[in-house]
Amino acid sequence: MSQHMRAAVVREKGGEFKLEEASIREPQDDEVRVQIVATGMCHTDMICRDQMYPVPLPSVFGHEGSGIIESVGPNVKNLKKGDHVVLSFGYCNHCTPCTTGHTTYCNEFYERNFSGADEEGNNALTDAENQPLHDHFFAQSSFAEYAISRESNTVKVDPSAPIELLGPLGCGIQTGAGAVINSLQVRPGSTFVAYGGGAVGLSAIMAARVCGASTIIVTDVVDSRLTLALELGATHTINSLKEDPVARIKDITGGGADFAIESTGRPEVLRQGIDALGKMGTIGVVGAPALGTDSTFDVNDLLLGGKSIRGIVEGDSIAQEFIPKLVQLYQQGRFPFDKLIKFYPFEQINEAAKDSEQGVTLKPVIRIG
Ligand code: NAD
Ligand code: ZN
Repeated sequence: MSQHMRAAVVREKGGEFKLEEASIREPQDDEVRVQIVATGMCHTDMICRDQMYPVPLPSVFGHEGSGIIESVGPNVKNLKKGDHVVLSFGYCNHCTPCTTGHTTYCNEFYERNFSGADEEGNNALTDAENQPLHDHFFAQSSFAEYAISRESNTVKVDPSAPIELLGPLGCGIQTGAGAVINSLQVRPGSTFVAYGGGAVGLSAIMAARVCGASTIIVTDVVDSRLTLALELGATHTINSLKEDPVARIKDITGGGADFAIESTGRPEVLRQGIDALGKMGTIGVVGAPALGTDSTFDVNDLLLGGKSIRGIVEGDSIAQEFIPKLVQLYQQGRFPFDKLIKFYPFEQINEAAKDSEQGVTLKPVIRIG
């Protein structure tokens, strides 16, 4: 049976998230329908609302959903009604990247997360006039009271963990932590820089501490974020508006950093990150500017320094494995990502977006159910 619900719909480029009556069909095949408890808001929701990534409108965004399974399709194997789950990104599970354990580079990643429909171009949602709404955003569209996801991108979590907190593990937090733990494999005793101390950058800092990095530097332009970074494990902070990050980082690290991630999405900051790497250092590119954006680097500096630049999607996470590990680290007090979160009621979703864009709130989480 289809289910009536409220969903936040974006109908025009840069427009508001508008709470509307909508319907969602029942789960089919290997799908589950999840009653959403809360959904984190990530910069990528805004990028798509503003059409820097051209997801078709009208659309229901939201891609850090957590909740409780309400019903399951006939071919679901390991999940059941009542399970507590976190929803993560979609992938096909049969292309070469997927079958070799690299689901974040699935050949169909863009289509399965940003096309506004399922693989056949169908929608699961309709609006009050019975017109289709674009959905399947990150294989979930969780700014809504219910969401459909597949078994493959639905991660069962410990029911004793606070489910309303866990949604951001599905994207932003898994991205920052995974970039450090899975992609860069930051070593004990090494030096690490996070360019940008937003939700992704601060998650990277907490992870760098878990990995045992001895020098953990963060750059940002908002002082309150730098102060919080110190609480989460940073050893040094740099306000890039007040001092030159490249010179300062070379000074602190004695020549340049071993590891870095760029999460501001700004090409000039990526350039700083490459310049401030030490010999054989690696920078992970995580921040997403508009499609088509170029950046520059000094070729001989890269060559003679043996430096590496690599793109990273979702922290190279195998969500089914990685998210429960992050929950465990959180429960042990070693990954206090709750310090980034501020809750908003569903009716205040636009305030949440504004607070996030103005740097007031690091990780808004919208309470839905
Ligand atoms: P955010 O807006 O919270 O963080 C960005 C931070 O950069 C802010 O704190 C901002 O003050 C800071 N900043 C701006 N200009 C700066 C400068 N010149 N120097 C230093 N810091 C500066 O966003 P977020 O949620 O942390 O996401 C970060 C980026 O990662 C976004 O572009 C998002 O789209 C992207 N993202 C990528 C993936 C992926 O898989 N690659 C996943 C999630 C998010
Ligand atoms: Zn995201």
